[in-house]
Amino acid sequence: MQAEISKMVKYQAVEAELVKIDKALEANPNKVTLNKMAEVFNSSLKLAESLERDAEKAVSEFEKVKKSYNLNYEKAQKFASLDLEKLSDEQLNKVNLELEGIVTNLDTIEKNLLSLNKGVDAILDKFDKAKKNAVIARTNYGKAKENFDKIVANSSAARNKIVAELKKLEATINPSLLNKYKAIREGKLFPALVPLQSGLCGACRMKPPIFAMTKLNNQGFVECENCHRIIYSE
Ligand SMILES: [Zn+2]
Repeated sequence: MQAEISKMVKYQAVEAELVKIDKALEANPNKVTLNKMAEVFNSSLKLAESLERDAEKAVSEFEKVKKSYNLNYEKAQKFASLDLEKLSDEQLNKVNLELEGIVTNLDTIEKNLLSLNKGVDAILDKFDKAKKNAVIARTNYGKAKENFDKIVANSSAARNKIVAELKKLEATINPSLLNKYKAIREGKLFPALVPLQSGLCGACRMKPPIFAMTKLNNQGFVECENCHRIIYSE
């Protein structure tokens, strides 16, 4: 193994300790709860927003029904002031027909109001539930966060030690190789550096093409075309 690669391999072995700590933190039940509660809180907020839009729609529907009620009420008032005795049979028939129309309209209005009322009740009910869920989620989030922050604080000394060691090692590594390694690590891939094993990439088991093998032999390492990790020969 080339000396430069060997330094990179050592660096990765130290970073493995850091990855282990971070993985344990990610899998910590408090962290899992924290993430879940944040999700519940956000989805409750979104639900509340959409219910608010539903409520706005219901209000505008109500305005329409109210307008229609007012129109029919005015018409009915007009008929109430008529002296029916002075009307001819033909006029009376006409009035009767119009009154029937008003009764039908008022019937429809009543039905619409009832259904609007039910709709508004359902919206309020859902809104109430969303609010309760958001409050529960926020409380649970707070508790989990408090616990998790303590756990993070407890592991910070060990983490800082490793980070300092990595910094020290970085100064000794070929910058172009280190940059390649870091670019892979940004994609959260670990290990980023793998040995060639029986002619295959040590991570994804893909066989590098002949030109890549030539490059590997010349410079000591090559990028895997499949998983993009750095392959080195041991
Ligand atoms: Zn690979």
